[in-house]
Amino acid sequence: MAAEIINGQLLAKELRRNMKNEIAELKQKGLTPHLTVILIGDDPASHSYVRGKEKASAEVGISSKIIRMDKTVDQKTLLTKIAALNKDENVHGILVQLPLPKHIEEQKVIEAIDPAKDVDGFHPINIGRMMVGQDAFLPCTPYGIIEMLKSKNIEIAGKHVVVMGRSNIVGKPMGQLLLNENATVTYCHSKTQDIKSYTKKADILIVAVGKANIVDSSYIKDGAVVIDVGVNRTEEGKLTGDVDFDDVKEMASFLTPVPKGVGPMTITMLLSNTIKAAKGLS
Ligand code: NAP
Repeated sequence: MAAEIINGQLLAKELRRNMKNEIAELKQKGLTPHLTVILIGDDPASHSYVRGKEKASAEVGISSKIIRMDKTVDQKTLLTKIAALNKDENVHGILVQLPLPKHIEEQKVIEAIDPAKDVDGFHPINIGRMMVGQDAFLPCTPYGIIEMLKSKNIEIAGKHVVVMGRSNIVGKPMGQLLLNENATVTYCHSKTQDIKSYTKKADILIVAVGKANIVDSSYIKDGAVVIDVGVNRTEEGKLTGDVDFDDVKEMASFLTPVPKGVGPMTITMLLSNTIKAAKGLS
């Protein structure tokens, strides 16, 4: 039987409609959530992501500002700017678009952001809080995937989840959030040997590798839930995921497409984190 498609774009629309109503109520109380994004350099993908965030913020009523800096900006100038934003009461969320130019230390920048304004959820304080199950800003991509699974009432507790990829922003926090939901989690990465022996045992397979079509039906168990995080561009410029969609769709029970899958949910959870920051919950 063909897999049920989890349409991230539709779910994102539904969630954003609710957010719009919540923000309208906050505005009546005199609170307008505000997100400031720092964009450094001229990487086209980063510019496109930031445009997406700006547009989505405006749609739900979040005020946003983009601070553009030249790719030669020095680290001290950037850290001074972040310190000023940390102090600015009108700024609720701060996001520094990654990747950064090589001369800037990414971790120093992440740690310079006030954890209470860290809407990307990358600050070690938020990661630590997430690990021990405290209220925290959750990294947007894994957070969005949890929402996608829940939207389809897919059982997580007791299930074997295999996460392919162990980056700090996707793979690692993904496994942790699923563990928090009582899944049994296995991580696979570039050094994993005989990777299919793990992936074929997964009830839920999350693929966050960044290699087009690396996962086909020979990687998955019949009836598995398959979540494709990958965003790759083919030579013709077409967006494609890490999962060979056509090959897997007859075997999986649920499957996410690329585009219209995880991507729109990532931005949606950023909006959710910004509202949370404005309300001062964390
Ligand atoms: P990343 O930092 O490059 O990490 C890739 C991970 O994949 C690493 O842990 C790497 O292992 C592992 N890997 C590489 N080759 C492998 C192989 N043959 N088998 C198994 N694992 C392998 O990438 P990322 O930031 O996590 O992103 C992953 C993908 O998701 C990219 O396509 C990115 O564009 C996409 N993404 C999408 C969204 C969205 O909203 N849709 C958000 C973020 C990222 P090692 O650790 O051993 O090197």
